[in-house]
Amino acid sequence: MARPWNFSAGPSALPETVLQQVAAEMLDWNGSGMSVMEMSHRGKHFVQICDQAEADLRELLNVPADYAIMFMQGGGLGENAIVPMNLIGRRGDPAADFVLTGHWSTRSHKEAGRYGDTHVAASSGVATTIDGCEQAPWTWVPPVDTWQVRRHAAYLHFCSNETIHGVEFNDWPDLATLGAPDVPLVVDASSHFLSRPMDITRAGLVFAGAQKNAGPAGVTVVIARRDLIGKALPICPSAFDYANVAAEHSRYNTPPAFAIYVAGLVFKWVKAQGGVAGMEAANRAKADLLYGYLDSTGFYRNPVHGPVRSRMNVPFVLRDESLNAAFLQGAEAAGLMQLKGHKSVGGMRASIYNAMPLDGVHALVAYMQDFERRHG
Ligand SMILES: *Cc1c(COP(=O)(O)O)cnc(C)c1O
Repeated sequence: MARPWNFSAGPSALPETVLQQVAAEMLDWNGSGMSVMEMSHRGKHFVQICDQAEADLRELLNVPADYAIMFMQGGGLGENAIVPMNLIGRRGDPAADFVLTGHWSTRSHKEAGRYGDTHVAASSGVATTIDGCEQAPWTWVPPVDTWQVRRHAAYLHFCSNETIHGVEFNDWPDLATLGAPDVPLVVDASSHFLSRPMDITRAGLVFAGAQKNAGPAGVTVVIARRDLIGKALPICPSAFDYANVAAEHSRYNTPPAFAIYVAGLVFKWVKAQGGVAGMEAANRAKADLLYGYLDSTGFYRNPVHGPVRSRMNVPFVLRDESLNAAFLQGAEAAGLMQLKGHKSVGGMRASIYNAMPLDGVHALVAYMQDFERRHG
């Protein structure tokens, strides 16, 4: 049976060759006679798997030695609590700033409020006009020179790709230009991690739940500058204290071993695609194809300000919303799965992560054109 095209926002499609390798190695990893699921997390086989995954990720993103790479549990929402527990008190009175650009950054802000004093440095949660164009809330990014960052904040958090609203940052700002050189960036990069080059040294900490673009659910990647580690609040569970996790190379307690193994295979796959630069070229081609079609018709519409449209998550609405159910039913019949938009925004969403080939986007656009011909 042919695999359908899976446009799920997460957990999402994995590269087929990775799944095949996992299947081939399921009962016997590399002559060990064991499945990775059955291995001691302190045995030589798993230590090799875990350290190789870390080394490959370090190479892919050019992560310097003064940054720790950690494979943790708890997902993106877990990090919304784990980051403040580790960082918010590092400069004395707990304080952290947030830039709100949609659902996920708003969730992060709310969660951090349980651990200290939080402040909204900027928000796109209101309508505005850009270049004469009306922009609805959460369809744009506040210009960096309007961010009001407190100089004493422990960090400034933003979400570099808003998975639900389809808004992506193309650059990470330099807060020295805002008079806050001692405020490190904390970046939730969950849904575009490894989709493009990222200058990790611009940030103090980057985290990503693997299940969007980097592997299966269960492992969360955290990359943190080492000087920020080691000042966790007393309430921080020791298993979630970055100082412990980094010192033990992600093996302070039993890590999500199988998920780390599969993520490691995805890292190898990304390397074989030309690394993150190769991924970026492929992702650009897919996004250009889909947005190009969306902009050529009045039948569908993407509401996001052009320069910050996500290459990963493409929300769109039908002009006639009464056709939504028919659109989704026809899409499934054509082997195009999981196109329903998030309930908070409605409409449709096509997530076109790394593992989605250009052919899948061609199939989607062909279906959308055909649907428009029949209903337009
Ligand atoms: C999916 C997602 C999350 C939540 O991740 P969980 O692993 O479900 O906790 C957080 N942030 C972003 C940007 C996401 O896309």
